[in-house]
Amino acid sequence: MTAQIISGTEIARQIREELAREIAELKEKHNLIPGLATVLVGEDPASQVYVGQKEKTSLALGIYSERHDIPAETTQPDLMALVDKLNQDPKIHGILVQLPLPKHLDETEVLYAINPKKDVDGFHPVNVGKLMIGEPDYLPCTPHGIQQLLVRSGIEISGAEVVVLGRSNIVGKPIANILLQKKEGANATVTVCHTGTRDISFHTRRADILIVAAGRPKAVTADMVKEGVVVIDVGVNRIGKTAEGKAILAGDVDFETVKEKARAITPVPGGVGPMTIIMLMTNTVRAAKLAAGLV
Ligand code: NAP
Repeated sequence: MTAQIISGTEIARQIREELAREIAELKEKHNLIPGLATVLVGEDPASQVYVGQKEKTSLALGIYSERHDIPAETTQPDLMALVDKLNQDPKIHGILVQLPLPKHLDETEVLYAINPKKDVDGFHPVNVGKLMIGEPDYLPCTPHGIQQLLVRSGIEISGAEVVVLGRSNIVGKPIANILLQKKEGANATVTVCHTGTRDISFHTRRADILIVAAGRPKAVTADMVKEGVVVIDVGVNRIGKTAEGKAILAGDVDFETVKEKARAITPVPGGVGPMTIIMLMTNTVRAAKLAAGLV
């Protein structure tokens, strides 16, 4: 079987075009410009790249973007004061505090202080709880991107056996929650595996849709999946460097062998990765519409 390659790059491009049209319409009809504030504490190079990509995408889409780069030695009260200021600012509909924060800062206190209505990452307990009961304002970006990859590739989710490898709060648990809801683009039977699971292959071999977010290269090999499975590989592992010093990336799935059995599979890079930022933009537009009473 030759697998269909699910291109996150292409699907993110489609969503980007739809969003650009929606943002232009919001401005024209409602004089509403969605606003996103990013907060970066310190100078971690990877975080600088992520925040830079978010800012660039916001600006390209016509989203008002405010970047707050603050020194690594910032104190907790100063950071809390900034979050409070952004919570009060009507131009700002979404607040993103880039993680991880420097060790002396309390991440939980900061994330809990963000107004849930501006929590476009979807990590605030109010938003986690709303997702759980099936009434979300925002879906967290990476899991939302995974759902969109499946839906827009025409993969039937309702009734499917979905197996998720990994139970983190940012990927495994929320994607399991999203796909088990009694809703369109969901309604699956979901199993979540982790390092405490007795026989992982027993579960992965039953999967119609296998979502892998373990953070381990080759955590899934061809003998662990059935013919015709749909595989979403969330993993991003730096497995070496090119001669030019560029990181070589690999997912959590042994792509070359698993693609011979799969019906469809995401590559790494170019699969889940490009979806995460565009779903942040989707959430920012939704936050603006919620604030304006348009949804
Ligand atoms: P994480 O917090 O490290 O969680 C990994 C999960 O996988 C844990 O629940 C762990 O189980 C489980 N696990 C690890 N090895 C396993 C194995 N051999 N068998 C079964 N379960 C195993 O990771 P994360 O934040 O969810 O991220 C996962 C991967 O996705 C990483 O490579 C990360 O870089 C990538 N990621 C990509 C994006 C994107 O936008 N593309 C976004 C987020 C994350 P325990 O709970 O028992 O320890």
